[in-house]
Amino acid sequence: MSELAMRAEKLDAADDLRGKRDAFVLDTASDHAADAAGVYLDGNSLGALPAVVPARVEDVVRRQWGELRIRSWEESGWWTAPERIGDRIAPLVGAAPGQIVVGDSTSVNVFKALVGAVRLAGQGRDEILVDATTFPTDGYIAESAARMTGCTLRPVAPAEVPGALGDRTAAVLLNHVDYRTGRLHDLPALTAAVHGAGAYVVWDLCHSAGALPVGLDEHGVDLAVGCTYKYLNGGPGSPAYLYVRRELQDRFDSPLPGWNSHAEPFGMRSGYEPAPGALRGRVGTPDILSMLALEAALEVWDGVPVEAVRAKSLALTDFFLDCVAEYVPEGRVEYLTPVPHAERGSQIALRCDGAGDVMKRLIERGVVGDFRTPDVLRFGFTPLYVGFADVERAARVLAETLA
Ligand SMILES: *Cc1c(COP(=O)(O)O)cnc(C)c1O
Repeated sequence: MSELAMRAEKLDAADDLRGKRDAFVLDTASDHAADAAGVYLDGNSLGALPAVVPARVEDVVRRQWGELRIRSWEESGWWTAPERIGDRIAPLVGAAPGQIVVGDSTSVNVFKALVGAVRLAGQGRDEILVDATTFPTDGYIAESAARMTGCTLRPVAPAEVPGALGDRTAAVLLNHVDYRTGRLHDLPALTAAVHGAGAYVVWDLCHSAGALPVGLDEHGVDLAVGCTYKYLNGGPGSPAYLYVRRELQDRFDSPLPGWNSHAEPFGMRSGYEPAPGALRGRVGTPDILSMLALEAALEVWDGVPVEAVRAKSLALTDFFLDCVAEYVPEGRVEYLTPVPHAERGSQIALRCDGAGDVMKRLIERGVVGDFRTPDVLRFGFTPLYVGFADVERAARVLAETLA
């Protein structure tokens, strides 16, 4: 056994989160297609299936829908699911209850949050800054939001934001962790800088929630959005969430004021009057099947401190970097993810020639990461179900593939 394989064994034996693996459906038949056990390093794109989900979905469909039918809006708690599940996500992102609603996609929530932020900023502020390296959907939506609100849109690298702020800045849209490089941006400092300029900040937490502490309340974040199908394992297309800081809720003016966010939704009145609190972020009828699958999926977080997740995430990515340095010939890959812990999310991105083909071959051998155009290999490390032996094996197979 190699020295790194022995180190992996010791690290796995000392891992407090090791037992959480059993809460997931892993090692499926397709993982074994080529050789040995599979390694799933794509939980930053689609989280693995928590074992409690299938039976819950079955109950929601057969009993709640099939038998109780319309009664379930009340008796099965369907109507209040967006706020209830928001409160379940809240501790994972450092938010007190009553500030998060679940629903719609991240893209739609970016729209609500960004237009809402510009409206909060008010007259005289007509510029939106957007992360120049953003996941594309945020950029597309920011462009449309700017056009609709009469703002100009300026793409700025997150580190350059403090210097780009001014008394015309209305809102700033930033990604907490860069989807491509895995770089973690400095949420506390950037939030403080935006506030110093009198503007509002919207954070996209897609690649950080469920992987590291976010501290929304502690750092005074104004608005935040995130998806639930990556590190939160909610399932394909599971609904996203919107955080509106409590002190801003009364002034939050949603650009999508659907009947679900009305103060009296069943009053069926012609005039809109927003509900108080977080549920002002709701729009239309919630997607109950996906939402209740997500609610079940979130049970895996019971008793798991986010700090422990972060500690293991860093240990996994550190170990992966050690294994790659040991196994992969020097110069064969370029490291895109920053090495300092303070700048690293929960993925490692490597650049190499022919990355698309390399990833195809890795997947054939059961090591599942993903490829991002033009030349990036992404490996996501989900501390609840990835172990150190997985990491060692992934790096070994990568080296063999590159040889
Ligand atoms: C995954 C991701 C999205 C996804 O948006 P959807 O509306 O769910 O498709 C948006 N923003 C970022 C930063 C992401 O990583």
